[in-house]
Amino acid sequence: MDRDFQIDSKLASEVRNYGNFDIKGCYACGSCTVICPLTGNSASFPRRCIRYVQLGLKEALKESLEPWLCYYCGDCSESCPRETEPGEAMMTLRRYLTAQYDWTGLSAKFYKSKLWEYMAIFLLSALVVVLAILFHGPIVTERVELNTFAPVELVHTFDMILLVTLSFFLLSNVFRMWWFTIVRNHVKVPLYLYITEVKTLIQHFVTQIQFRECSTKLRWIKHWLLTAGYVLMFTMIIVFLDWFQTDNIYPIYHPQRWLGYFATFVLVFFTVEILLSRFKKKEQIHRFSHHSDWIFPILLLLTALSGIAVHIFRYVGLPLATYYTYVLHLAIACPMLIVEVPFGKWSHLAYRPLAIYFHTIKQKAEQLQTHKEGDLQLVGSTE
Ligand code: SF4
Ligand code: SF4
Repeated sequence: MDRDFQIDSKLASEVRNYGNFDIKGCYACGSCTVICPLTGNSASFPRRCIRYVQLGLKEALKESLEPWLCYYCGDCSESCPRETEPGEAMMTLRRYLTAQYDWTGLSAKFYKSKLWEYMAIFLLSALVVVLAILFHGPIVTERVELNTFAPVELVHTFDMILLVTLSFFLLSNVFRMWWFTIVRNHVKVPLYLYITEVKTLIQHFVTQIQFRECSTKLRWIKHWLLTAGYVLMFTMIIVFLDWFQTDNIYPIYHPQRWLGYFATFVLVFFTVEILLSRFKKKEQIHRFSHHSDWIFPILLLLTALSGIAVHIFRYVGLPLATYYTYVLHLAIACPMLIVEVPFGKWSHLAYRPLAIYFHTIKQKAEQLQTHKEGDLQLVGSTE
C-alpha cells in the first residue's frame, strides 16, 4: 500500500457493531493465510483486512474486495492459535461493507439494531395488509377465485413497481461498490476488460464455483440449490406472475407445478437445515449468529410455508382460507424482499460475484500497468 490514509481510531468499535470481531488477540502469525484455500496470489488474505481494522484504516477497508472473496468455510478459524475467529471477522466485514455501499443508511440501521429491522418488517407487513384491505377484488365464497380476490394484473403492477424500486437501490449501491473499490482505488481499468470479463461475473453468479474451492462438494451443492430455489421463486413471483398465479390447477406433470414444487422444497428443506445448524452451533461456521443470520432464513421459510398453505387451501377448495393466507403470504414475502434484497443478506448474492469480477479486472489492469512500466524502463535503458 503506497498511499496515505487517515487513521480512524473508532473503526474497530464501529466494525464490532456488525458482529463478532475479536481482533485484539491477532498477532499476525499468518496461519489463517496459509490455511485459507482461497488465498491464491494475495499473500495477506484474509488477515490484511483484520490489520486494516487494527490500524484504523477505514478508507483502505472500504476499497478492499477481500471480505467478499471469502466464502466462509471456517478453516482459518479452526487453525487460529489465538482463537480470534478470522472467518467470522470476514463475515462481520461483509456486513460492514454492505452498510458502507448503501447510501440510504438503512443497511447500517438494520445490521446494527434488531429493533430497526423488526420494526421495518412489521411496518411493511402492516402496509401490505392495509393495501390488500383497500384494493382487494370481490370475495367469492362459493368456490376459490384467487384471481378475482387479488386480480393478477394489479398484483403484477405492484410487483413491477417493487422490482424497479429494489433494482434502483441495489444498483445504486453496486455503483458505490465499484466507485470505492475501483475508481477510488486509482486503478485504471481499460473498458474492454469490463466487457471481456463479464463471463467471470456470469460464471460466478450462476455456479458459485469459488465456494466449491473452499468447502465440501455437498455444502457447495446445498448452497447452490438454496440460491437456485430463491432465484427461481423470485423470478416466478415477480416476472412471471401471470403464469404462476392462476385459478387453474394444472395437471401434475405441468412444468408450472414442478418448478413451484422444486423452489418450495429447497427453500423449506435448506432453511430448516440452516436454522437447526445455527441452533445447535456444532459447525464452526454456525458458532456465531448475528440477528440477520436468523431473520433472512426465517422469512424465507415462512414465505415458503405460507405459499404451501395457499396452494393446499386452493386445492381442497376453501375460499376464505385461501384469500386470508394469500394476504399473509404477501405480508411476509414483501418485507423480506424490501429489507433483504438491497439492504440485507440477499445483497451478498450480487456483491460476491461482482467482487470476484472487480478483483479479476483489477488484477489484469495492474498486470497491464506493470508491463507498460517495464516496457518504458526497457526503452529508457536502451536509449
Ligand atoms: S491465524 Fe489468528 S492470530 Fe494468526 S494472523 Fe490469522 S487471525 Fe491473526
Ligand atoms: S473462512 Fe475459509 S475462505 Fe474465508 S478466509 Fe477463512 S479460510 Fe479463507
